[in-house]
Amino acid sequence: MKSAKKALIIGTGLGGLATGLRLASKGFQVEFVEKYHLPGGRLNILEKDGFSFDIGPSFFSMSYEFKEFFEYCGVPNPLVLQELNPLYAVYFENRANPFLIYKDLQKLATEFNGIEDNLVEKTEKYLSNAGKLFHDTEDIVIRRNFNSKLDYLLQLTKVPIKHGPKMFKSMWSELESNFDSQEVKVIFSLVSFFLGSTPFQTPAVYSLLNYTELKHDGYWNVEGGMYKITEAIVKLLKEKGATFHYNTEISALETEGKKVTAAISADGRKFTADKIICNSDAASFRGKVLNRKKYSSVKLDKLQWTLAPFTIYLGVNKKLDKLYHHNYFLGNNFKEYADNIFKTAVSPKKPYYYVNVRSRSNSNSAPEGCESLFILCPVPDLRYKPDWSDAEELTDNIIDDMSQRINFDIKKNTLTRTILTPIDWEEKFNLYKGSGLDLHTAWIKLVDFVRQIKTRISPTFTMLAQVQYRAQDSLL
Ligand SMILES: Cc1cc2nc3c(=O)[nH]c(=O)nc-3n(C[C@H](O)[C@H](O)[C@H](O)COP(=O)(O)OP(=O)(O)OC[C@H]3O[C@@H](n4cnc5c(N)ncnc54)[C@H](O)[C@@H]3O)c2cc1C
Repeated sequence: MKSAKKALIIGTGLGGLATGLRLASKGFQVEFVEKYHLPGGRLNILEKDGFSFDIGPSFFSMSYEFKEFFEYCGVPNPLVLQELNPLYAVYFENRANPFLIYKDLQKLATEFNGIEDNLVEKTEKYLSNAGKLFHDTEDIVIRRNFNSKLDYLLQLTKVPIKHGPKMFKSMWSELESNFDSQEVKVIFSLVSFFLGSTPFQTPAVYSLLNYTELKHDGYWNVEGGMYKITEAIVKLLKEKGATFHYNTEISALETEGKKVTAAISADGRKFTADKIICNSDAASFRGKVLNRKKYSSVKLDKLQWTLAPFTIYLGVNKKLDKLYHHNYFLGNNFKEYADNIFKTAVSPKKPYYYVNVRSRSNSNSAPEGCESLFILCPVPDLRYKPDWSDAEELTDNIIDDMSQRINFDIKKNTLTRTILTPIDWEEKFNLYKGSGLDLHTAWIKLVDFVRQIKTRISPTFTMLAQVQYRAQDSLL
């Protein structure tokens, strides 16, 4: 009898686990090697003092992808999803109540009464354009794998040319041409800010994320918390005979001709397989493990990396009724804050941050009457701010600020507190310089380039330059 082909997967992030289950369902014998002591990569868990926290991802849309995934693998979908309503709450400084963001546009409009006129009509028009972009690109770009640059470029030529301008315009200018109030523009641009960049640099294609949140699929809670996704896939993998080696970092690969035949761990063990798949960040793996000159640290440092996460995990001894499942806390100086946050070596004094209350929708996350909070503050990566000796100070700043805004002394009621700085994120999961979402799309550079032309050369020239770009058919 022919024995099963073997696949070795380096990394147990969601990408590695999903690939593993797809391969196992096609008859491969799957083996994982993972640097961390638990599976999940950034989709991981922290369990401490009776509380549990999802350490990274807490938001997701496009929930139907899970259905496709489990169907492909020939197993019933083990996840129970609950749609969130409202989607999230946004606190602005000096405003007592948060804006609640609903998919129902009539309800949303009442939140912005006296702030943004005709919100329903404006949002419908804005989302209709974003929706066309989403559906015109979902199958040909977003969900597709590219095997070469040529393959990618050829695929881009299939995107309708009418979407070209969104490539060269910033997310912020797109919002400016659709809305008047600063509040709506800032809130709709959070999808780029909390995805590791700023709306002044990200292309207007990010508007498709507003479509996915407000119109298309909304946001969801996984019953039991996000880590249930990791646990469910690992359980299915084990049932299919997959094996896992934790605390095992791959530091070299062996090749025969062009074929990779073995992976060698830092402690000298050799793992062989018919197929070897890398789930680690591709750019830094090519540099650090494959020693490719094109990915040397000098070259990697010159690339555009997303913001790094500064994260705090708090167990609090009371229910915090003013908080929702997802919450943003913002100041009133968005542009200035966004312009400086990327490259400063100093922690922000008045930080912008996001708070997830896992226990709001998942009672298993905290003891009775308590709350489990995850706080994320996007900060510069380790190229710009290598020293995190002020981590406690930044944490205190954030907690004091939130306490004041929700009128509750969090510090006095904290039962457990853990902080992860960009140094920890790099050390635990090999995230390059602590960058939370890896490299940006190359298009950020283009948006920046067009922005520079706009500010440096005459408006007429800029217009001509944009017309030329519009003639190119390209996306993402
Ligand atoms: C704080 C934070 C919040 C986030 N929030 C969201 C969110 O709300 N919604 C969302 O959609 N996304 C979010 N993301 C992004 C999301 O976490 C990632 O896109 C996703 O988890 C990446 O999965 P992955 O499998 O590609 O990589 P990873 O999760 O990084 O997995 C890679 C794995 O490979 C391992 N590894 C690396 N190098 C080696 C090696 N040499 N040898 C062995 N193992 C190795 C790592 O330890 C890791 O386990 C967030 C990210 C962060 C950091």
